[in-house]
Amino acid sequence: MKYDYLIAGSGLFGAVFAHEAKKKGKTCLVVEKRGHIAGNIYTEEVHGIQVHRYGAHIFHTSDKKVWEYVNRFAEFNQYINSPIARYKDELYNLPFNMNTFSKMWGIVTPKEAQEVIAGQIADLHITEPQNLEEQALSLVGRDVYEKLIKGYTEKQWGRDCRELPSFIIKRLPLRFTYDNNYFNDRYQGIPTGGYTRIVEKLLEGTEVRLNTDYLAHRAELDSLADRVVYTGMIDQFYDYCLGVLEYRSVRFETEELEQENYQGNAVVNYTEREVPYTRIIEHKHFEFGKQPTTIISREYSSEWKKGDEPYYPVNNEKNDSLYAEYKAKADSESRVIFGGRLGSYRYYDMDKVIASALELCERELGAKI
Ligand code: FAD
Ligand code: UDP
Repeated sequence: MKYDYLIAGSGLFGAVFAHEAKKKGKTCLVVEKRGHIAGNIYTEEVHGIQVHRYGAHIFHTSDKKVWEYVNRFAEFNQYINSPIARYKDELYNLPFNMNTFSKMWGIVTPKEAQEVIAGQIADLHITEPQNLEEQALSLVGRDVYEKLIKGYTEKQWGRDCRELPSFIIKRLPLRFTYDNNYFNDRYQGIPTGGYTRIVEKLLEGTEVRLNTDYLAHRAELDSLADRVVYTGMIDQFYDYCLGVLEYRSVRFETEELEQENYQGNAVVNYTEREVPYTRIIEHKHFEFGKQPTTIISREYSSEWKKGDEPYYPVNNEKNDSLYAEYKAKADSESRVIFGGRLGSYRYYDMDKVIASALELCERELGAKI
């Protein structure tokens, strides 16, 4: 065999594995079906602004090992994500915190906020929230749910909030302090010079073939390597033989504006149902940019269909049990390893992807990181 590993996908998972394998003296060939490396964390510089081509990416983690690892490949700035939610002409701070509640109800203390929420859900008697709607109502009450969650969530997921799992909303912090940091994590920032540079460094010295779909050339590529690390969609790998897993896709409308500052914040969420996009990203604010022009992206969410880019797995009961069937097949493969967001059908953030790639490196390569 010409290579020890054939890696399908040059996203973060494939790139971390390739990097560690190379350090262990293994040879890898990375094939990538897109025309560029880095998967969904791909950023591209336009007039001095790093444009996040596949959606805003903020690195955040509480995992010290992952933070130290990623800092070997980039320097991170001091960006703290503090999105604004816009409901009609009302503006609120996110995540849900005392600034949000104070603006919503004109109250001042945490006790007052908790009393308003308790009053709004007293008649619902929710003990064990069964879905996203019940979870959200029991956490923040009806006003916040109706204005900041319901419309946004139904746009993003294309499903009624009662049909979505509660864990989606539990990703967001809820605080009774005046703190607009969107994450609770210990470490946070944006890599200076963009994410693509990180992946370039990870792949330094590894052969990469762009515009090459592993599944379209499977027999030929399999014959080149002993083992395969596959980071594409698990159901597509099996030609959807057990059924099609659902994903959400996203479309971005990006434009450059002849003004220095469009919205005064990197992320503004449009939480009412009637506005067709979910949010507007103003890329320069991730890096405190002072360029004379600015670049914004409107984000539209849609149901994935074959041929679209899959962005978010829809981890409801139906899909999770279908995934379990595919996973059983995957576990019995002797030479193919599945990984990453699509290979594991998981709503993984970047830090979790790095952690799981490093675990694989330990298992597969005996690499201690
Ligand atoms: P991917 O980046 O999807 O890479 C997989 C690669 O495999 C792709 O390049 C794909 O083209 C390629 N591929 C697929 N099939 C084939 C094939 N058959 N042959 C060859 N190549 C193939 N995480 C955070 O931590 N913070 C954030 O703020 C954040 N924001 C996000 C916003 C959006 C809109 C999305 C969608 C995700 C966000 N994430 C965020 C998650 C982050 O994007 C992922 O954790 C990370 O990109 C996953 O890396 P991966 O290698 O598993 O997958
Ligand atoms: N969410 C919401 N209103 C907002 C922002 C988020 O209701 O203004 C909900 C929505 O259901 C979303 C979930 O919180 O899917 C998680 O938000 P997050 O920002 O983590 O989404 P992601 O970064 O994955 O797009």
